Amino acid sequence: MSAQSAKHMIAKNIGVLGAGQLGRMLALAGYPLGNTFTFLDTTGNPSAGIGEVIVDPENQHLAAFLDKVDVVTYEFEHLPVELVKQIEQHKPVYPGSRAIAVCQNRVEEKTLFDRLGIPTPAYRVVESAEQLAAAAAELGCPVVAKSVTEGYDGKGQAVLKAPEQAQEAWDSIGHTQLIVEAFVDFVREVSMIAVRGRDGEVVFYPMAENQHVDGILRYSVAPLPDLDDSVQQTADGYIRALLDELDYVGVLALELFQTRDGSLLANEMAPRVHNSGHWTMDGAVTSQFENHLRAVQGLPLGATNAIAPTCMVNVIGLEGDNAALLAIADTHLHRYDKAERPGRKLAHVNVVASSHAELLEKVRACQALIPDAPPVEWSFESTL
Ligand code: AMP
Repeated sequence: MSAQSAKHMIAKNIGVLGAGQLGRMLALAGYPLGNTFTFLDTTGNPSAGIGEVIVDPENQHLAAFLDKVDVVTYEFEHLPVELVKQIEQHKPVYPGSRAIAVCQNRVEEKTLFDRLGIPTPAYRVVESAEQLAAAAAELGCPVVAKSVTEGYDGKGQAVLKAPEQAQEAWDSIGHTQLIVEAFVDFVREVSMIAVRGRDGEVVFYPMAENQHVDGILRYSVAPLPDLDDSVQQTADGYIRALLDELDYVGVLALELFQTRDGSLLANEMAPRVHNSGHWTMDGAVTSQFENHLRAVQGLPLGATNAIAPTCMVNVIGLEGDNAALLAIADTHLHRYDKAERPGRKLAHVNVVASSHAELLEKVRACQALIPDAPPVEWSFESTL
């Protein structure tokens, strides 16, 4: 593509479905590219705090939104697929509606992983408490039961220590169809973030290690000093297969478990910029947000390599001592303009260091300044 035609391909106004912190960070990355942003919020509770926000809980302003935008993307995948298909009739939507349909349904997601040869924990699909008990006995407890739809951040899930807990788990989840998975004794949870352009070009970020507490991400660290190249290449292969199969455009996140023998089992994917990729804002040559915008506009993708060891620290529920956090060298605060509320993601801190040992020290200093931040536990700590 010539520089001239690339110049004219820049979409001026990007439409974003959803208006939370991911949309906010997309906009912050897009202004330097000359983009403007219009958000469509259906929750009645937008928090982007930037660009134009159309609040539309009754679904009455779609036409006005579409009139304003050149291309549409989203920051939340639990959207009605029919709505996205309707939008696709009028404006390009990236990633497309098929990616949404697959990612919002754990059965479809697992079926796709199986078809592409991407290993997953052993699983069964069940539609009653009796079937749940039978699956738990067959797979061997503990097992994790998850609602097929509407699950995220560990919501709609229960761990069964024995098949006798099936009725209680079934009642607590309250869905008509569940996936039951063998509980993986993982060494660590990792994620892959990759980006596919409109022309099929794919770039991969270094794998991150993620620490969750109660299903909510607390820390992501990348790159991983003990990661075998072959494991990264295997993960690249898995995510590339998904991107190509879905004819995907934009950022895709794939969460995986790494087991003792180094092998990877796919947990779930998200068709959007992802919390485990926030470290790229300060730790990679091009952030996931900029690369997503480059992709949806048909522009060349930016380099994904890490600049230095980086850790993303989530601030959840209550904010910490922000001035003290910023006093730690090479620490960057990203606040989301949200009111404090238990369990709510309010901000994150990216900590950059010249070595992983120094990074760990600085992340522990951050932890001490953030209310209720759990102890930092990295799988490779003993190697530092
Ligand atoms: P999910 O919503 O599927 O990402 O699950 C939330 C968290 O629950 C994951 O990040 C894991 O910490 C844990 N988890 C989910 N599935 C399993 C599993 N099959 N084995 C062990 N832990 C799991």
